[in-house]
Amino acid sequence: MAAFSRLLRSSSSARRLLSSLTSKKQSRLPAGLAHHKAAPARTEAAAAAAAPERNVHWVFLGCPGVGKGTYASRLSNLLGAPHIATGDLVRDELNSSGPLSRQLAEIVNKGKLVSDEIIINLLSKRLENGEAKGGSGFILDGFPRTIRQAEILEGVTEIDLVINLKLREDILLEKCLGRRMCSQCGGNFNVADINIKGENGRPGISMAPLLPPPHCASKLITRSDDTEEVVKERLRIYHEKSQPVEQFYRSRGKLLEFDLPGGIPESWPKLLQALNIEEHDCKKSAAA
Ligand code: AMP
Repeated sequence: MAAFSRLLRSSSSARRLLSSLTSKKQSRLPAGLAHHKAAPARTEAAAAAAAPERNVHWVFLGCPGVGKGTYASRLSNLLGAPHIATGDLVRDELNSSGPLSRQLAEIVNKGKLVSDEIIINLLSKRLENGEAKGGSGFILDGFPRTIRQAEILEGVTEIDLVINLKLREDILLEKCLGRRMCSQCGGNFNVADINIKGENGRPGISMAPLLPPPHCASKLITRSDDTEEVVKERLRIYHEKSQPVEQFYRSRGKLLEFDLPGGIPESWPKLLQALNIEEHDCKKSAAA
C-alpha cells in the first residue's frame, strides 16, 4: 500500500496535481472565516506572509444525493473559487469517445469507485486547465473519497476547511431517485417531494421539489447510476471507503459537520451562518 502510494505520488499525474495545487499564497477568506483557516505550516509561513492572498481551499464531503453539488456550486458563485466535482469529470470522460470511456461506464454504472490513478489524472488536468484560465482556489466536491486520496491531497496542498453535509439515509435514496438533469443546458433538478413527519423525538423534514423551467421540462434525463440498486451500492461504498475520510479531517480539526435542516430555502442561510459568511459582504467584495 505504502509502496503504491509512493508510486502514485511520483507518477506524472500526481506530479501534475502537485504543481497545480501547490500555492504559496495566503488564503482569501470571507470576513469572519479566519477561524476556519488552519495555521500555515511553519516552513510556509514566511513565504505566505510575503505572497498575495489566495482563494479558499475547501472540500465537501457527504453521501451521494446529500446536495454537495448544490451547495458547493452556490458557494463557488459567492466566493469566486471554482467548484470542481470529480463526478462531473468522470461523466465528461465517460461521455467522450476517449479510451477510458467504456471502462469508466462499467465502473460508474455499478456504483463502484474509479481508481485513484484515473481520478488524480482527471483532477490534475482540470486544475491545470483552470489555472491556465486564471482560476484560483477550489471547492472540491466528491474528492477525496478514500483515505489514500485524502493523504495524496494533504501531501500536495493545505486544505482550509471540510464541510460534511448530512441527511437521513431514507431521504438520500429518494433524492437520488428524484434527480434529473437537463440534457441541453446541464441544469440540475429534483422531482422528489419529501415530507417526513417527526416521530420518536426525531424532527420532521420537508424538501420541496426543485422543478425545471418549462424550456428544460421536455429534455430531462436521469443519471444512469441513479437507480435504486446502484444508489444502495454507492451508499454502501460511501460508508466503507469514504466515511473514514470524515475522521481523517475531524482529527485534524478541519471538519465542519452540517445537518441539513430541509431544502435549499432553509439550509442555505443556515449553512452561510455556520460558515460565518455574510452573503451581502461577499457580493460587495466580489464587486470591488
Ligand atoms: P458523483 O457524481 O460524485 O456521485 O460521482 C459519480 C461516480 O464517479 C462515482 O460513483 C464514482 O464511480 C466516480 N467518482 C467520482 N469521484 C470519485 C473519486 N474521488 N474517487 C473514485 N471514484 C470517483
